[in-house]
Amino acid sequence: MKKSSKKSKPLKSKTIEPFWEQKTLGEMTEQEWESLCDGCGKCCLHKIIEEEHDEEADLEDEGIQQPTDFIREGEEMLYTNVVCYLLNDKTCNCTKYAERTKLVPDCVKLTQQNLGDIFFMPDSCTYRRLHEGRGMPSWHPLLHKGKKAEMHKAGMSVRGKVIKDSEVDLYDYEDHIVTWPLADLD
Ligand code: SF4
Ligand code: SF4
Repeated sequence: MKKSSKKSKPLKSKTIEPFWEQKTLGEMTEQEWESLCDGCGKCCLHKIIEEEHDEEADLEDEGIQQPTDFIREGEEMLYTNVVCYLLNDKTCNCTKYAERTKLVPDCVKLTQQNLGDIFFMPDSCTYRRLHEGRGMPSWHPLLHKGKKAEMHKAGMSVRGKVIKDSEVDLYDYEDHIVTWPLADLD
């Protein structure tokens, strides 16, 4: 058979940008918003706000402060490896996700309305990354068929590094200060 001299041209494939590149956080649907959470568990770690030292005040209140949801200028937020008792420390998922804010009043549920509180989230938090224009990290489960293996391998989750708050006395949190939650990786 005579070969046709016509050459077939490959169709130009349209690259479809993922929703997190097309939309701002405020424009996302609830489902898109929820799917952005990488499930790292870092936001479930207890944090300590380091204040400027007032030795007299320290003596008066023996160094233990009430929980707070804001940070003042000059204060520093330190992470501990003490994690909420409701976190599954292997999967890094919340075991009571639907009831979390009822069961744990300090649990911060990040929404489109309270993005101003995002400074409480670690640098590697996907919401924070997108909010600050730093894009989606290469290890994110959305880029790996929903699997968390790459994230764990990259050391971006809390897996294998934490102790439950049900096992640590509040007065001992300072002994559990760690810097690994500050790490981020593109
Ligand atoms: S730090 Fe951010 S991305 Fe990670 S689990 Fe918490 S809310 Fe989700
Ligand atoms: S209740 Fe769940 S989401 Fe909230 S801090 Fe605890 S483990 Fe994390």
